[in-house]
Amino acid sequence: LEAKEEFSHKTLAMDVMRPRRNDPPLTVITQDSMTVEDVESIINETTYSGYPVVVSRESQRLVGFVLRRDLIISIENARKKQDGIVSTSVIYFTDHSPPLPPSSPSMLKLRSILDLSPFTVTDQTPMEIVVDIFRKLGLRQCLVTHNGKLLGIITKKDVLKHIAQLANQDPDSILFN
Ligand code: ADP
Repeated sequence: LEAKEEFSHKTLAMDVMRPRRNDPPLTVITQDSMTVEDVESIINETTYSGYPVVVSRESQRLVGFVLRRDLIISIENARKKQDGIVSTSVIYFTDHSPPLPPSSPSMLKLRSILDLSPFTVTDQTPMEIVVDIFRKLGLRQCLVTHNGKLLGIITKKDVLKHIAQLANQDPDSILFN
């Protein structure tokens, strides 16, 4: 593996991350503007293990990362046990939530399930380094940013696929070297 990585120095995080060019955009959750219903449809329509939480769709500024299973459990619990939580309740991942007009449904605060420091690399980070970080830190996923904006995600499986691809390419690489 060590030797094979020598041929990978040109592959960058942006070449391995999802979404790929022409893929639909990354599925993200906003920190203070999505309802219980909005998040439930994301859970139902995708199977990802987790979702980046951003300040807003326009800004794409990363706030944290939330695991799918934590979202499912928290929303289910809140719907059962928390008074006033309905489909139109707004979910807040922020530290402070704004005062709501008396007529609006109760808000659902989910900051406690947010990982506030998900590992991130920039899009120009060589995959050799990304692989190393995954190994050393035992990461499950890593987010990719460009100029502070969220761009993509790399999962452990993406990294393993990348390594497998490198292994297949090696004969050629050796010929060229
Ligand atoms: P795994 O890679 O173990 O199957 P996931 O199910 O979370 O884990 O991800 C499946 C694929 O979708 C991976 O290639 C990953 O990069 C990508 N992916 C993961 N999370 C998201 C997301 N929130 N939005 C878009 N793509 C994602």
